[in-house]
This record gives sequence, C-alpha cells and structure tokens, in this order.
Amino acid sequence: MLTVSTHILRSIFHLVFPATCAGCGDSDDIYEGFCRCCNRELLRLAVLKYCPRCGATVGPGLQAGEDGCWACPDVSPRFGRLVRVTPYAQPLRRAAIRMKYHRRTQVAGHLVRLLAEAVSARCDTASLDVVLPVPMHWMRRLARGVNHSAVLAGGVAARLGLPLGEELVRVRNTPPQVRLPASRRAENVRGAFAVTRSAGLKGAHVLLIDDVLTTGATANEATRTLLAAGAEHVTVAVLAKAEPPTAYSKQLQA
Ligand SMILES: [Zn+2]
Ligand SMILES: [Zn+2]
Repeated sequence: MLTVSTHILRSIFHLVFPATCAGCGDSDDIYEGFCRCCNRELLRLAVLKYCPRCGATVGPGLQAGEDGCWACPDVSPRFGRLVRVTPYAQPLRRAAIRMKYHRRTQVAGHLVRLLAEAVSARCDTASLDVVLPVPMHWMRRLARGVNHSAVLAGGVAARLGLPLGEELVRVRNTPPQVRLPASRRAENVRGAFAVTRSAGLKGAHVLLIDDVLTTGATANEATRTLLAAGAEHVTVAVLAKAEPPTAYSKQLQA
C-alpha cells in the first residue's frame, strides 16, 4: 500500500515538476538524470580509452601504458592514476556547469553517480583510505556559496563507503587557472595548499576529487602537498579531462 502511495505521490510530483535532462534540459525519456540522446552520447564518450596518468584520450595516434603516454606533461603527474568519466564535452560539460553555477543538487547527484562508477571501474576501491576534495579558498567559497568539488567528494565517499577527509586546505587564493596559459598554471598554484592534522594521512591511499582536469597543475600541486604530509599514494578522479574534440573525434567514428 505504502509503495503504491509513494508511486502515486512521485508521479504527481513529476507531473508538477517534470524531471529534466541534466545535459540538455529536455524532459522526454529521462533515465538516470539524462535523456536518451544524452545517455547515448555519455556512453560513447565514457568508453573511450585514455592515458591513466594525464587523462588524454588514446587512439591510433597516441598509445598509453600504465606509465603514461608521450603527451603526458613534462613534469609527470605526481599522482599514481587518473580516473575520468568523459572528455570535457556535452552532455557532461553542461551538466557540470549547471551543478557549479546554478546549484542544481539533483544534477550533482547524477554526476556523483557517474564519478563513483568510473572510480569503481578503474580502481581497487578496497585500497582507498579516504576521499578528499580539491579545496577552494574560503574567500572564493564565500563568494560562490559552495565548493562543487566538496559536493562531488562527499557524494562519492558516501557511495563508496569511505570517509570524507578535510585535511587538505587552500592557503592561498590563486587566480582561476582557466584565465592563465598552460605554462603559468604550475607556478600559479605553487604553495597554494596545506595539510592540517597530517596524522590521519600517514601511509594513506587518498582519492582526490576535482571537477575538471586541464593541465593537471592543480591536482599535481595538491598531490605534492599530500605526499609531503605522509600520504602513501594519491589517485585523482575528475568528471572530465579538458581536451580538444580532435583528440577523440576519430575514435568516436571508429
Ligand atoms: Zn539530454
Ligand atoms: Zn598521458
């Protein structure tokens, strides 16, 4: 009886507030937060093979082993492995923007699911000790009201049954990386992070969460700070890797 009532209530709720696709905003044929077209596109992008060190899509022109690929940045990633859901492209791009700037908590829930599934598929989750977000400086959090990486990290930790840590903090309010050329990004974030209560991180395998990875400079600097504080191993998980469509268009046609 209760199930029937819940079902009816849910149907009425969806009639009044129809579910919309996290990617394109359509309200037709929604499954797990996305419409049929966006789900199809998500799947196509999510199965692309990528370098486990820098996240670049691999294919005919680029091969990668466990140690990385020739496109890996000069300063090789300090983190052991990178997990991504898709390249930074639709529909995940628009969903991430909706979560970030429009504070759509429902969208955040769908993105958490996708990220947690990607981590489970690529990592031995039993080896992970703690989940940490790439932190936001308190001044920026005050302006924006929410740290989207913390939202993702909290959701992924809950889904994987892991503790959510708060040991990594941002001690410098750096200009956004997106406004800087790749060559200046490492310098921009140098010394931006610190660890509080490092005892909890000694020997730990940390899952570090961010939304988008571009050059990897921010994730590298956060990882350097965590390793210096005694963490044994850092795996980075992001929703998306920023790369030009030419990096994966041929593989999509194959
Ligand atoms: Zn859609
Ligand atoms: Zn690589």
